[in-house]
Order: sequence, then structure tokens, then C-alpha cells
Amino acid sequence: MSINSSCSGGNNSNNNNGGGNSSGGSPCGACKFLRRKCVPGCIFAPYFDSEQGATHFAAVHKVFGASNVSKLLLNIPVHKRLDAVVTICYEAQARLRDPVYGCVAHIFALQQQVIHNNRLINWWVNWLMIC
Ligand SMILES: [Zn+2]
Repeated sequence: MSINSSCSGGNNSNNNNGGGNSSGGSPCGACKFLRRKCVPGCIFAPYFDSEQGATHFAAVHKVFGASNVSKLLLNIPVHKRLDAVVTICYEAQARLRDPVYGCVAHIFALQQQVIHNNRLINWWVNWLMIC
């Protein structure tokens, strides 16, 4: 599972002031999806680009709701919002894929992989000690 750069603000790295549609051109991905005017200071603009941002925002809106995400971002310091958006996008995509467990299913699979690999390491260490 991977997060696309449009969800991480990769195309808007020069606009890290916590909001705004500084380009004055096309609306951000969130406003594009919500079919509303993207105003200067838009909370979503730095994180959801006009191209692929709408697709990612669709998942976020379906799982959490645009209003809830907006309120959540407003309560987070600007310098931490990017991490929050990446996490929200990740969880939203995971919830759509697995509505019951979300990203917990992925964490559980990774834990099982760690357990398996630790057993392999222990087996090889024991084998080397015998030789
Ligand atoms: Zn916008």
C-alpha cells in the first residue's frame, strides 16, 4: 500500500502556509470533488492537488467526511498538518479496502511477518551454532 504524492502535498511544497489557493487557477482536489469554489485560505489546498487530489479526497470524504477532516485540520498546528493528511489518506484508503479493520489488518500482517522472520533468524542462528 502506498500513498500518492498528491495526498502528501508533493506538488504544493512551496505553499506551506496552512491554506490557500495561491495559484488562482484550478480548484484544489477537495473543492473540485465537492464542486465548490476554492477560496484563498482553503484548508485542503496545500494537500490535495487539482489533478489526483480529488481521487484521494473522495476516499477521505467517504470515510471521514469533509467537514470532520476540516475541523480536525484546524485543530492541528500548521507544521503537523501534512503528516495528519497523509495519515488520514492512508487510513481512508485502508478503510475502503477493509471496512472492518482498516490499516490494522496491514499492521497485523506485518506483525505476523516479523514473527515469521524472527523464527527464521533464530533457526539460522541455532544452525550456525551447531556447525
Ligand atoms: Zn480548495
